[in-house]
Amino acid sequence: MTLLFDPQPPVLAATSDGHQFPVRRLYCIGRNYAAHAREMGMDPDRDPPFYFTKWAETVVPSGSVIAYPPLTQDYHFEGEMVVAIGKGGRNIAREAALDHVYGYATGLDMTRRDLQFEAREKGRPWSVGKNFEQAAPLGLIHSVSEVGHLSSGPIRLTVNGEVRQDADLSDLLWPVEDVIVHISQAYRLEAGDLIYTGTPAGVGAVVPGDEIVVSIGGLTDTQVTIGPRAAA
Ligand code: MN
Repeated sequence: MTLLFDPQPPVLAATSDGHQFPVRRLYCIGRNYAAHAREMGMDPDRDPPFYFTKWAETVVPSGSVIAYPPLTQDYHFEGEMVVAIGKGGRNIAREAALDHVYGYATGLDMTRRDLQFEAREKGRPWSVGKNFEQAAPLGLIHSVSEVGHLSSGPIRLTVNGEVRQDADLSDLLWPVEDVIVHISQAYRLEAGDLIYTGTPAGVGAVVPGDEIVVSIGGLTDTQVTIGPRAAA
């Protein structure tokens, strides 16, 4: 038996101490900061957390130039804290949830907002608005043994040096423990999974040439530059 074509190579994310973290799946939490839920036109009523997924191959390292994606006129940044899962499990208990975390990183949930909103209005899946090439820039992963667990501290995003998002991790409606508990009831979480924990208020559009930087206290920044428009 021969392979019909080359399989996708593994997606590897760099850690702060020189290891490689094999990426398995991405879970992204929606509306996890009250002020962002309001700016999206929703009540932050603390419904159970909800999420969507992205392909592992959407991960690109900090420092990348990412193409302005096709089909959108409203390409948005969402700065987020990312949780890297190091140990799998199903129906994880809240007291044990943080034992499943390998570490934390800064990241971006890049979004074709016009396509997301069109899908939302029509009751369709969000995939075309959220899951596309280079849609999940990721900074270095810092291990829990290096930085501990992150439940408070500043999360900030700048575009061309101007502060656009400025909040605190303690504003998360559903903290990391609760998110792990909830996802693990729907799926078996696996080592290599990444959880993009949601974005604070202040999301907005970028254009080719813009530079985005996401900072979280204790972690390495994620920095990307928006490149030219991708060929449709
Ligand atoms: Mn998001």
